[in-house]
Amino acid sequence: MERTFSIIKPDAVARNLQGEIMAMIQSAGLRVVGMKMIQLTKSQAEGFYAVHSERPFFGSLVEYMCSGPCVVMCLEGDNAVQKYRDLMGATNKDNAAEGTIRKKYALDIEKNSCHGSDGQDTAAVEIAYFFNALELVG
Ligand code: ADP
Ligand code: MG
Repeated sequence: MERTFSIIKPDAVARNLQGEIMAMIQSAGLRVVGMKMIQLTKSQAEGFYAVHSERPFFGSLVEYMCSGPCVVMCLEGDNAVQKYRDLMGATNKDNAAEGTIRKKYALDIEKNSCHGSDGQDTAAVEIAYFFNALELVG
């Protein structure tokens, strides 16, 4: 069993898509083991996306991620990191495969509806950034 970290981003929550995205996640065989709705502060969003701090889109990305509530989740399943990356589709919706979350719901390359960890190490860091042990079920 593997865990990954997921965000249903503000553009999707603003359109009430969290239920549909969660149904896709569960249909893909991933189990939700932690979940909450939060609105990120600027410094929380900057910390989460620190790896992108030198990219030209960083300021806009941080502003967007703070623009409204999002749903953060810890997901568990076989091959959870890759399974959820596959379910999300490519960063740019124009390159995302049919049936993926981003193909269905993303607005543009920035407002792309979901986040998923890109590896097991980053998953562990990202889960710990948002959840303590009491907030995750076994
Ligand atoms: P992913 O979320 O697929 O792992 P990245 O880690 O490369 O993608 O980027 C993090 C987030 O930054 C993306 O999900 C998207 O919201 C935003 N982003 C990435 N590339 C761009 C870009 N060229 N212009 C605007 N926003 C971008
Ligand atoms: Mg990424």
